[in-house]
Amino acid sequence: MDLTRIIETIVGQMRDADDRGVVASYIPELAKIDPARFGIAIATADGRMVKGGDADTGFSIQSISKVFALTLALGKVGDQLWKRVGREPSGSAFNSIVQLEREAGIPRNPFINAGAIVIADINLAGHRPREAIGEQLRFLHYLTEDDSIAVDNAVARSETETGFRNIALANYMRAFGNIAQPVDLVLGTYFHQCAIEMSCSQLALAGRFLMLGGAHPAGGRVVSERRARRICALMLTCGHYDASGDFAYRIGMPGKSGVGGGILAIVPGVASIAVWSPGLNETGNSHLGTVALERLADATGWSVFSAR
Ligand code: GLN
Repeated sequence: MDLTRIIETIVGQMRDADDRGVVASYIPELAKIDPARFGIAIATADGRMVKGGDADTGFSIQSISKVFALTLALGKVGDQLWKRVGREPSGSAFNSIVQLEREAGIPRNPFINAGAIVIADINLAGHRPREAIGEQLRFLHYLTEDDSIAVDNAVARSETETGFRNIALANYMRAFGNIAQPVDLVLGTYFHQCAIEMSCSQLALAGRFLMLGGAHPAGGRVVSERRARRICALMLTCGHYDASGDFAYRIGMPGKSGVGGGILAIVPGVASIAVWSPGLNETGNSHLGTVALERLADATGWSVFSAR
């Protein structure tokens, strides 16, 4: 299989696409991004990197950060975490509040905003927000072997000024006792984590431990094999919110999207893939990013459901 050719073809098709989706505008800073951008990067299990388009342009990883934050939180509190967050797909939008009343302030899963805000509370415990964000950045530096990854402060500020729904979610959960620390500090941590800027190449590198069953490609272990498998299971069932079923059907890979237009997708044992196209579909996931991954799955046969 000629992966370079496949990527070239996909990049060409995506460059010419008319329907590019709509760039998120509820975080004003994200609305400034050019919808014509498209990038893709694939880190393979045999150590290659194949990339195309704007693969080295940084973008706001937004909810993709929830994968790394969850990994850190599981490292701190282990399975105790599941007393405060569920593991079921929500069937609701990423910023939905509807299930929280019925379920006594326990979010359905760690990838909807409510769940990720509880995870931020866990990662913040015993720290100041600056330290908690520093820990996340150090984790990403370790995974990518690239110390340049940082927070885009303009995006963090923009979301802090307009994050009314997330403020409501956090306060609502605090009323049920499921947020332990002051809401402004928890949200400060969450907004800065979402505002981390990375390129497709950096994201594909950061996802390698999930492709490798928890191992770091340079040696040693990031997480156990069982934990890597379980994080992938959550990505498959919950990583695209109310479009997780559609993503599993069309692409068949554990994946996590962000409203910055990025998607990280994992083919266990084979590839860690990052795509970026800022225009979103109606479920808040990258429109062309999803189309590109679908073409890649069709061209390569990569999927957790294929017989290899
Ligand atoms: N920071 C964004 C928010 O909380 C993340 C949402 C997303 O990427 N889906 O609204």
